[in-house]
Amino acid sequence: MSKTDKIIVAIDGFSSSGKSTMARRLASAVGYRYIDSGAMYRAVALYALENAMVGAAGDVDVAALVASLPQIRIDFEPQADGTQHTMLNGRDVEADIRQLRVSNVVSPVAAIPEVRHSLTAMQQQLGEGRGIVMDGRDIGTTVFPDAELKIYVDASAQTRAMRRFKELVEKGSPVTYEDVLANVLHRDSIDQNRAESPLRRADDAISLDNSEMTLEEQDAWLIDKFNRVISGQSAS
Ligand code: C5P
Repeated sequence: MSKTDKIIVAIDGFSSSGKSTMARRLASAVGYRYIDSGAMYRAVALYALENAMVGAAGDVDVAALVASLPQIRIDFEPQADGTQHTMLNGRDVEADIRQLRVSNVVSPVAAIPEVRHSLTAMQQQLGEGRGIVMDGRDIGTTVFPDAELKIYVDASAQTRAMRRFKELVEKGSPVTYEDVLANVLHRDSIDQNRAESPLRRADDAISLDNSEMTLEEQDAWLIDKFNRVISGQSAS
């Protein structure tokens, strides 16, 4: 591989494993585009909530949501501070999609095969020019099975719930640690056990347990893997 060739970096892992932060920071360091595929599933879940397709018990009206898929447009709008916001049919939903009410319904929505097919096609289009870092659950297995660098991030459920709890508290959300932990465990279980592209480590992915790592250690670890691949060496 020549140093000018752009690659695809796929980062998969459990909820709140820190994979989005890793992916965003790598993309910014190497001048690649970052795509948060979870944000796309969250946008579809928000659409379902806002259009009365979720019952009081959290049950999703699958037929209605599937019929609406052609009307759901998701884009990412770059911001002045270098981040990007998720847009749902032209509306900035970046804050709304992070709420616990969305987290509570996103995994059942993401288990619907038609939703996955539609979002996978959008994600593959975004990666056509390569030069992309995408994070999610099935990026290395289903969306980009030919990605040159695949990372599978893991951390204990407690560590992940504490990270997510702190983020939500900083944003002013009235949540408890116990609620966040319950949501993380619930999503882990649905994400791993669904029939359609469940969360699993791709055979050629490199595993990372970042429970005890600082952000800087994590960045250095990832950039080393990236540089190895770019210079034609084995990443592991
Ligand atoms: O990454 P994040 O936790 O924001 O993703 C929200 C949810 O979207 C996950 O719990 C999972 O159910 C779903 N998801 C998925 N496939 C992806 C990304 C996210 O099923 N590639």
